[in-house]
Amino acid sequence: MKIVCIGRNYGDHAKELGNAIPDEPVVFLKPESALIPLRGPITLPAFSTDVHHEIELVFVIGRKNGKVIADKATIGLDLTARDIQQQLKAKGLPWEKAKAFDGSAYVAETRSAMESFPAGHHIDFMLKKNGHEVQSGHSGQMIFDVDALITHVQRYMALEAGDLLFTGTPAGVGPLAAGDRLEGYMLGELLFDLNVEDGPSIG
Ligand code: ZN
Repeated sequence: MKIVCIGRNYGDHAKELGNAIPDEPVVFLKPESALIPLRGPITLPAFSTDVHHEIELVFVIGRKNGKVIADKATIGLDLTARDIQQQLKAKGLPWEKAKAFDGSAYVAETRSAMESFPAGHHIDFMLKKNGHEVQSGHSGQMIFDVDALITHVQRYMALEAGDLLFTGTPAGVGPLAAGDRLEGYMLGELLFDLNVEDGPSIG
């Protein structure tokens, strides 16, 4: 199983980080070891002082009639060590240390079958930090929709049943601190409720 992530897929978020609107999807990977156990907690890594929350729609890849499809939808967190990412970006280096570390991905358990959404339906989602809404968006705001993303990614790598596709975050990303509480909603339903803790210090 692999975790395929899309960057800069919402115009308002690309802008808040000073990035151009991409003319093709920005693709990166997280390993399976990045997954946070169900119900958490989120553990902040010692190598960063600026880990940001990014709530995203996450699609579980499946297969139907021999075709690769988005089978189920849920929400997740693409946690990002923004300080490390800025250093790597400045040097033109890959992002893995900032994006693929242990505990950098959360996927909510409840998954809605894509068949349950009528055509043209937008899937809305929202993140609360300590009881206050910090990020919200819906699938209709994605620069590249999920079908376009699946087609694009498969030009480069096979998608297999069970793979996870993170589809980018809307504006409102921000830092986490020990003691924070994150609540994630999809279609108005609370799908995760996670506490943030400091990880063990190194050295
Ligand atoms: Zn992201």
